[in-house]
Amino acid sequence: MAEEKKKPKRPLGHARLILGKCIACGGRCEAECPKEAVTLNEKGEPVIDFNKCIGCRRCLKVCPASALEMFFTPEEQLVLDELAKTAAQTKTPEPAEEEGQSADVKAKLAQFKGVWVFVEQTESKAEEVSWELLGKGAELAKALNVELSTFVLGENVEALCKESFAYGAAKSYLVDDPVLKHYRTEPYYKAICELINKYKPEIVLMGATPLGRDLAGAVATDLATGLTADCTGLTIGDNRLLLQTRPAFGGNIMATIRTEENRPQMASVRPHVMPMPRKQEGATGVIIREKIAFNENDFLVKILELVDDRKGDGGMDIAGAEVLVAGGRGMLSKDNFKILQALADELGGTIAASRACVEAGWVGVEKQVGQTGKTVRPKIYFACGISGAIQHTVGMQDSELIIAINRDPGAPIFEVATYGIVGDLFKVVPAITARIKELRNQRRK
Ligand SMILES: Cc1cc2nc3c(=O)[nH]c(=O)nc-3n(C[C@H](O)[C@H](O)[C@H](O)COP(=O)(O)OP(=O)(O)OC[C@H]3O[C@@H](n4cnc5c(N)ncnc54)[C@H](O)[C@@H]3O)c2cc1C
Repeated sequence: MAEEKKKPKRPLGHARLILGKCIACGGRCEAECPKEAVTLNEKGEPVIDFNKCIGCRRCLKVCPASALEMFFTPEEQLVLDELAKTAAQTKTPEPAEEEGQSADVKAKLAQFKGVWVFVEQTESKAEEVSWELLGKGAELAKALNVELSTFVLGENVEALCKESFAYGAAKSYLVDDPVLKHYRTEPYYKAICELINKYKPEIVLMGATPLGRDLAGAVATDLATGLTADCTGLTIGDNRLLLQTRPAFGGNIMATIRTEENRPQMASVRPHVMPMPRKQEGATGVIIREKIAFNENDFLVKILELVDDRKGDGGMDIAGAEVLVAGGRGMLSKDNFKILQALADELGGTIAASRACVEAGWVGVEKQVGQTGKTVRPKIYFACGISGAIQHTVGMQDSELIIAINRDPGAPIFEVATYGIVGDLFKVVPAITARIKELRNQRRK
């Protein structure tokens, strides 16, 4: 009797680095690896231990620069070729079926198409995070081969639809109504849910601002779909799924979350986490105007008075500042922040701080950078007397230039710094300020 040929096991391979592509993001691949097979070298690039790597591909999925690929030995490649040949001869199940997705769920998901970005506005001025999200949205839409759209709500806000075309949107859904003049959760989320139920986008992105956090939660709850807040990475994985990466467990690991059976897939991203796309003046698109039958009596919240709590220059928002001079516990007191303020004034920036300083009452919480503070992406970030805990660095590691001043040469802040100065900040910071003043005076002469 002929012996039945045993089907070979599909080799999983190993992950490896594509030379020159790593952007030293801070070790998302390292944090994602379930087997501790990834370590970072002194350049911040991954070194993969083949003996530990199980070929799960998680590092590939979270890499923001697509700098990793799968590697198969010649023997493994032969097995793969053989399996591919057999699969071509026999019908293989659809990937979704393979993973247990029912035909009903597949049919439901297939109705949803397109990537939508919420254009958040106050007094008809857009929050910059909306345009940042359009940059990321364009990447996702391209990967899915679908249209990128925005949705704009407010009163007299049509100009924002046009502005969104300049940042890459092809279409903009507009609800322009006096009821939406000032933000209130109820009319906003009801209008958005109506739009989503009618047009069925597969991905909805919103800014993780105070307004966006409030609104996204209400929308996701009403639509009974998933929402991943404060994402730091968004990519498209298998089966058109949005892979939503965010820090978890106090920032100690990066979790990648998928919304497998519900649509739309919703994610929020903090300001300055995604880079701003280039503005294409004059770009055009299609505006879809929608009317929603609002009934003011349905809304519990009424706006009686508006109180503007924006401060003068001293209250510059750290999220939008181009230069930040941040202090940590090494500042020792509230009074010592004066030396940071002097440097910030020289460079037209503002001060920021680690949570340790906020907890000590030296600075206000609006100046806190990090996981439970703000995410910043200034042109220059000075880290003075900050150790560089992961909860701090997740909020500033994407700054264009990081200058760290710390008297401990082993401080982790030096791992994300562009320039590191080992020394006493009370000597180094005033010296930098004095030198800048001197150079400026020389130039004036
Ligand atoms: C859930 C959670 C969320 C958190 N969220 C945040 C957050 O959003 N933001 C945040 O910042 N932290 C956050 N933290 C706290 C974080 O873990 C750290 O405790 C905090 O960032 C430490 O602040 P620091 O670097 O200022 O202080 P330290 O870790 O105490 O570091 C002080 C540094 O100053 C240096 N130093 C001292 N004197 C001098 C001197 N004269 N000259 C030069 N250097 C000097 C020391 O060498 C040291 O490296 C969070 C923690 C948890 C658990």
